[in-house]
This record gives sequence, structure tokens and C-alpha cells, in this order.
Amino acid sequence: MMNAYAKPLPRTDVDSQPFWDGCKQHELRAQQCNDCQRFRWPPQAFCPGCYSWNFAWTRLAETGKVVTFVVVHYAAVAAFQPDLPYVVAHIAIDGTDGHVQLISNVIDCPWEEVKVGMAVRAVFEDVTPEMTLAKFRPA
Ligand SMILES: [Zn+2]
Repeated sequence: MMNAYAKPLPRTDVDSQPFWDGCKQHELRAQQCNDCQRFRWPPQAFCPGCYSWNFAWTRLAETGKVVTFVVVHYAAVAAFQPDLPYVVAHIAIDGTDGHVQLISNVIDCPWEEVKVGMAVRAVFEDVTPEMTLAKFRPA
């Protein structure tokens, strides 16, 4: 779906909507199991650790580490052309035992300087009135 922002936006659903509501408030949130305390990612109905259906949405740290990344040099969607080259990374959020790994951009940093293990901090971009994206910059 296109919009004034011109780039395709994430598709929300009943499981992920609280995450996006958190981004709107400039907070990172994830489900945490009420029975074994494990964080769940991506958002889902039951715990991948103990299969419990009980959970609460919990505010996360805004810091994390780059687990892995790619550098995109070809834009399959024309709206991303001006951003080339850009970094898409898995970011392990601090305090989640590696269970919450967001896939996002590392920005405000030349792509040649992005490293596995690099400490990053969330930055929230209000891209439309309805959607805020969590991206990351060097901490
Ligand atoms: Zn559990």
C-alpha cells in the first residue's frame, strides 16, 4: 500500500498492533511470558519456550547490539532508491536474552562502519500520522 510517505509500510495485525502502538509512544515493547518470563518475538499467541498463552506487553530497553546485517545496494522498490546504499540489520534488544531481535535500519552512520556486535540505540521516525518506525543509530 502506498501513502504520502511513498515507501511501503509494515502491515500490522492483531498480534503486532501493541508493538506499533508502543512505537507511536516512542517506546519499544514486546510480549513477555507470565509463566517463564521469556520475551516473545515476533508477537504471537503462545510462548515458544513453555507454550503458555499468558503474557503481558513489557517496555524494553531502547538499546541493543547488531547481530547481523546486510548492505542494500539495489532498490527493488523505487521509493528506496534515494537511500542507497542502506543497512538492514537484526538488532538484539538489551535485556531480552537475545529473544527480541528487531529487523530495522542502522542510520546516521556510514554503512562501512556498521559492525556485528555494535551497540545501537533506537530512534523513532514518525513517518505518517498512523505509523512510527523504530530505527537504530550508533549508541
Ligand atoms: Zn513461557
